[in-house]
Amino acid sequence: MAAEATRHYNWQGRRGGRSFRRQEKALSDLIYCFQPIYHERIWGDRAFERLFGRTLPEGKLIGESWELADLPEGRSRLAEGEFAGLTIDQLLRRQGKEILGASGGAGQGFPLLLKYLDANDTLSLQVHPDEQTARRMGGSARSKTECWYVLESRNGYILKGLAPGAQPEDFRKALAGDDPAALLPLVRRYAARPGDFHYLPAGTVHALGSGVVVAEVQTPSDTTYRVSDWGRGRPVHLQEAMASINFDPAVASPPGAAGTAEDPTSILAASPYFTVMRHRRPAGKLPWRLGRCAAWMVIAGAGDVWAGQGDPVRLHPGRTLLFSAALPEATLRIEQEMTWLEIILPQDANPH
Ligand SMILES: [Zn+2]
Repeated sequence: MAAEATRHYNWQGRRGGRSFRRQEKALSDLIYCFQPIYHERIWGDRAFERLFGRTLPEGKLIGESWELADLPEGRSRLAEGEFAGLTIDQLLRRQGKEILGASGGAGQGFPLLLKYLDANDTLSLQVHPDEQTARRMGGSARSKTECWYVLESRNGYILKGLAPGAQPEDFRKALAGDDPAALLPLVRRYAARPGDFHYLPAGTVHALGSGVVVAEVQTPSDTTYRVSDWGRGRPVHLQEAMASINFDPAVASPPGAAGTAEDPTSILAASPYFTVMRHRRPAGKLPWRLGRCAAWMVIAGAGDVWAGQGDPVRLHPGRTLLFSAALPEATLRIEQEMTWLEIILPQDANPH
């Protein structure tokens, strides 16, 4: 792997300086774009056409666009460049060390799952196990911590966390009855507004409400225990869900982030698994320090990013990019004020 990296990316740096000489390949090749993987869902719709100008599979309700995924249920494929067509696991086998850098973990799959969700109906009320519970469950159960950044809300809402005083017994009673609405007083409901950020650590009972489009950042796991499908008939996993819900005295967790909406950079979440930042920059050209594995999800605006003498990579809403840790710096040209999420791995969690 090291030999191959040297062959492809044999540029030299002045120690401590910022000047790098590209010898062979364009450094822009260290910026990766993937093909979205669309998943049909009963609660989905076609918002990605409208918001991102995407071409979706005909006649289907698309609930999820997996932007960066390395799971048996979906593995991202490179859309462009020398390695176009390779899946992310194949790419990581070739260049995992360079791409992941100090965050390590090469050989264990890509440590993030990035999606867009389009909820035209309320999703099931669900919970994901924490690491301890996942271990107890055994099998393929894996812990999952996730978060949502709201892109669009049509009077939408989000259910998250327990209502004050809600006890396991209350849940059992509500679940034993025929009326799924009996669960509603037991969970907190938040109106969703664009720009809201919701952190959902493992063990948090949650549902994305109808009329909401979000960017979702999560640990790569598909272990979901359904508490209720609101009477739509998909299976529920009551025992597993009850074992996974964190019933500790509920702490309200309103949408929020460190910093204010006007800050050029805000830390939205710093979890043991990932750090999510929101950047906002006006039109202009600026250097952008990299040197760590980072994923971008462009929320609004337009521009380009490139490195060295490489071709510019277009930035527009819905665009998801992965930057190799081997890329020290890029140039960003913003045409129209741009808002984007940057997701980095914990070992690299020093914000700009
Ligand atoms: Zn979830």
